[in-house]
Amino acid sequence: MTGCSEEKSHAERYSEDKDLKGRWQIMFGGFNFGMSAGMSSIYYDASYLLVILGAVLCLITSGVVKGTFNKYAKVASRSQMTGAEVARAILQKNGIYDVTVRRVAGSLTDNFNPSTKIVNLSEDVYDSTSVAAISVAAHECGHAMQHDEQYFPLKVRSSILPVANFGSKFGLWIVIAGIIISYFRPLIFAGVVLFAFGVLFQLVTLPVEFDASRRALETLPGMGILQEDEMKGAQKVLKSAAMTYVASAAASILSLIRIILIAQGGRRSRD
Ligand SMILES: [Zn+2]
Repeated sequence: MTGCSEEKSHAERYSEDKDLKGRWQIMFGGFNFGMSAGMSSIYYDASYLLVILGAVLCLITSGVVKGTFNKYAKVASRSQMTGAEVARAILQKNGIYDVTVRRVAGSLTDNFNPSTKIVNLSEDVYDSTSVAAISVAAHECGHAMQHDEQYFPLKVRSSILPVANFGSKFGLWIVIAGIIISYFRPLIFAGVVLFAFGVLFQLVTLPVEFDASRRALETLPGMGILQEDEMKGAQKVLKSAAMTYVASAAASILSLIRIILIAQGGRRSRD
């Protein structure tokens, strides 16, 4: 459920964990470029600092979410319900009978897959009765509710996913190709726009994630799964997870700025 870490936390991970991989490809694919092309222009080196800044933001928030999860993973809930029991109870309460709850390997790998209609809960969540586990399970059910209601930002997110994935992976290279082909403007513009779709995807992810957590924080006390004094821990766990998405979005914006600088730098070197 973290945003930046590669453990495709629920980060979704919304079936589409690919967006995380794309994110790191932006960073480390960009790193390769910084190493090679950067040698010939100080401009590229300077802009690469933006990518480093984004990566640092992601690492910090990822560390915070892990620390917060681990802290509240040690706090047992009084209801003594496991993450899996909580997920099934919430789905049933909301009349969602076609979504199954399964255990998935790894840590913080929890996600809801809309195509298979499965809430995947990690080993740390599925059998645990901790406040952290219950919070994460409820958050993933929040995504199942969104899908069930055809929540608008989720639909937008799904519709731009293919272009966003392509743009995140190849946008930078298309810009570079445009610069190499004697500054071919249409190609450079296309590369920037494609990459911007990856950024848009990250931005649309924010309301989707915030809304899933909001649903979780309303549902848990409402159903008596967590008591009022236990909700503080749930809020901390879900807020720290949300920060990873904010960091991811910020990192993608920084990468976009860098690509625009590269595009302009290419023009300058030609002019
Ligand atoms: Zn989520």
